[in-house]
Amino acid sequence: MTPSELLDTRNRPLRDLRISVTDRCNFRCVYCMPREVFGRDYTFLPREELLTFEEITRLARISVAHGVEKLRLTGGEPLLRKGLEELIGMLAELRTPQGKRVDIALTTNASALAVKAESLKAAGLDRITVSLDSLDDATFRSMNDVDFPVAKVLKGIDVAHEAGLGPIKINMVVKRGHNDHDIVPMARHFRNTPYILRFIEYMDVGSSNGWELGEVVPSSEVVSRINEAFPLEAIEPNYRGETAARWRYKDTGGEVGVISSVTQSFCSTCTRTRISTEGKLFTCLFATEGHDLRALLRSGATDEELSEVMAGIWRSRTDRYSELRSSRTGGLGPAGRKKIEMSYIGG
Ligand code: SAM
Ligand code: SF4
Ligand code: SF4
Repeated sequence: MTPSELLDTRNRPLRDLRISVTDRCNFRCVYCMPREVFGRDYTFLPREELLTFEEITRLARISVAHGVEKLRLTGGEPLLRKGLEELIGMLAELRTPQGKRVDIALTTNASALAVKAESLKAAGLDRITVSLDSLDDATFRSMNDVDFPVAKVLKGIDVAHEAGLGPIKINMVVKRGHNDHDIVPMARHFRNTPYILRFIEYMDVGSSNGWELGEVVPSSEVVSRINEAFPLEAIEPNYRGETAARWRYKDTGGEVGVISSVTQSFCSTCTRTRISTEGKLFTCLFATEGHDLRALLRSGATDEELSEVMAGIWRSRTDRYSELRSSRTGGLGPAGRKKIEMSYIGG
């Protein structure tokens, strides 16, 4: 395979690949896998439907040859995938056309982090992002809907930090009326720690969370609420296409971020692609259909054939869902189509 700059129809290069390693989760977060939909009789994918570690690594290797520099493992809850360390070890061997290592990150609810942090680091994982929606135990337990306590997540974060999986980012999805009273307490708690807190606007992803515009707390409001308690100033993005807008506490210099997936589209710099648990390639989080790479893999396609198909998909990519949503509705509005679930494709 020859290295070449691969661009989509809007001149966006391919840089990030998010890989969902399981569609299962031990949480039932109300905005992601509501219990009414993901109940006892919900059918998750059978094992043979999942991409194997070899299949994942093969697709990742081809993506890296096409320009991917960052891999993120997600799910469902990625730490539920058996033998994940083995996959991380395989991915850690990949090299970019320039001979560089790829950055390997993982997003987790941290429920198994205290136990796994050391082995994940030893396998070659670079960084983690932890989802934590509240510091208030009652609020958190009701948002994860499995009665999981805050203290265990905080413990997992500390163990991961000790293991060297930093800088750790903490993501809080803000849902009005559920946890928005926790914005300032979260800022207060994390502002003097090595962890970077980021607030995420509740998104109209998937079809099962019953998303309503009124439940979105715009990032501008998040920033102004924090600013009242702890004055903030804006700072430059780390790189073009960074999803989080960065802010700094004027007194301590600590950093906090906001991800305005709803109120400010960042489609024009979106360099991300996603592979679902059973091997479908999605070029947008809001896509309704993916490209079945598993069928191709299992039909005996060569690396060259796979590479050509994957390059062709990226070259013809036109996605800009958030941008279109903003222009059509002057801001917001659900798409009205059946979209894929966040727990299936990963964040
Ligand atoms: N289970 C892992 C976790 O929670 O970190 C990884 C998968 S989860 C789908 C990835 C991220 O998506 C999490 O940070 C979660 O908060 C976020 N997420 C899920 N549904 C969302 C929604 N409707 N709006 C915004 N973020 C969402
Ligand atoms: Fe599970 Fe993560 Fe979705 Fe919560 S956000 S239900 S932890 S996949
Ligand atoms: Fe990227 Fe699609 Fe999100 Fe736009 S809507 S930023 S194209 S994933």
